[in-house]
Amino acid sequence: MILLPDGKQVKPEEYSGKDKEFQCLLDKEVFKKPAENIGVSPPHLKIMRELELAGVEELSDRGHLRFYPKGALILDLLIDYLLDKMLEENACPVKSSIMYRLSAEPIKQHAKLFGERMYKLKVQRKEYILRYAACFGQFSILKDALISYRCLPLKIFEIADSYRLEQSGEVSGLFRQRRFHMGDLHVLCRDLASAKKEFLRLYIKAHKIAQEFGWKYVAMFNLCKSFFDQNRNFIERLAKASNRPVLLNLGIPEGKYYWVINIDLNFIDNLKRPVESVGMQIDLGNAKRFNIKFVDENGRKHYPVIIHAALMGSLERWINNLLENAAKQQKLGKLPLLPLWLSPIQVRVLPIAERHIQNAIEIANKLEMCRIRVDVDDREISLQRKIRNARKEWIPLYIVVGDQEVATGILSVSIRRPKGYINKKMSLVEIAKLIRKECAGKPFRKSYVQKMLSMRPVFAK
Ligand SMILES: [Zn+2]
Repeated sequence: MILLPDGKQVKPEEYSGKDKEFQCLLDKEVFKKPAENIGVSPPHLKIMRELELAGVEELSDRGHLRFYPKGALILDLLIDYLLDKMLEENACPVKSSIMYRLSAEPIKQHAKLFGERMYKLKVQRKEYILRYAACFGQFSILKDALISYRCLPLKIFEIADSYRLEQSGEVSGLFRQRRFHMGDLHVLCRDLASAKKEFLRLYIKAHKIAQEFGWKYVAMFNLCKSFFDQNRNFIERLAKASNRPVLLNLGIPEGKYYWVINIDLNFIDNLKRPVESVGMQIDLGNAKRFNIKFVDENGRKHYPVIIHAALMGSLERWINNLLENAAKQQKLGKLPLLPLWLSPIQVRVLPIAERHIQNAIEIANKLEMCRIRVDVDDREISLQRKIRNARKEWIPLYIVVGDQEVATGILSVSIRRPKGYINKKMSLVEIAKLIRKECAGKPFRKSYVQKMLSMRPVFAK
């Protein structure tokens, strides 16, 4: 069934197909159409290599990536960004273990649900599993905590490297891995009513985050019929917040899972594949399984309702979406770009001749002091080649430094925008202001690569 933002319901066969991205979700989930682009490699694979972000780690299992410095920086900045969003929520960050004893009862029960997709290890005759999300570790912390009703809703959070034995044929680039980083938030709520309230808020937040990165989701709600009937108003409010059609899967058997509603928010990539990018659930089973309790006003103990929310899903997949989104722009005839705050190098200084290098370094140093990531193309190649390289690497701004610039202090800047390069004469202060303004409110880290291009190795050959 399809739920429209105005609360009306439409059968999938009767859907007008106006929303092309939503139609991609219907084709996959309802009509089970085989993927159109089998064998075609998604554009992010090429971009990830060309921008020297990440590659496959051949010495590990399939689906285990290694990140080169520029990719590592983007991953760390996304971690910083998500952490900021979670601290805004008053969530408390924790760090849990990555492996758990399989003989422990709640782990054993949980493992049954997840089955074959777990990494198992044998160490000194004991069996362990690697976490596939941060749930176990956080639940274990919560079961040992003394929680009063006054603490609720209680939010804890962790960005956990997670391990899932995805089928080897399905593992691909940044789209699906066996090892990935996931930001997992768990919210303990007093009852279902308060959980619904928190859930709706977090759901809206997930959409707002996507907007900041330049895309919109198509949503799929999985739930059983009885939960839908009893919580219709809540489901309709969620659909309204999506502001586009939502696919309802009401075929979940009652009591089959620990959750009563499970929502996936999907980004649509260049191969028209829905890429699950946010997962949220309301969980009525795990508080009991893990023995997590809170104490009410009268000293009585209760099991809380738990919300699971990965508002940016796997961060590797988030980078997949960023690159696929840039490739979509390219298809529309625009220049592909990363958000300025995430660009590994924000400004490149291009000295025309050797005698301008010292001046270029001084400019770079001044920009660095304004919290800007900058490098200098000091290589013995022509200016034309330097410019071509800067464009190929999607450098958002480059500055050409020659005799005139050294004499006047007024710099020739080229700014990369979706519609093309804008050439301007600007002072250093104006350049710094422009960048700081565009990155306002976003996290910053220093550059992860050498400032002088002549000293930089090539990581992705
Ligand atoms: Zn969880």
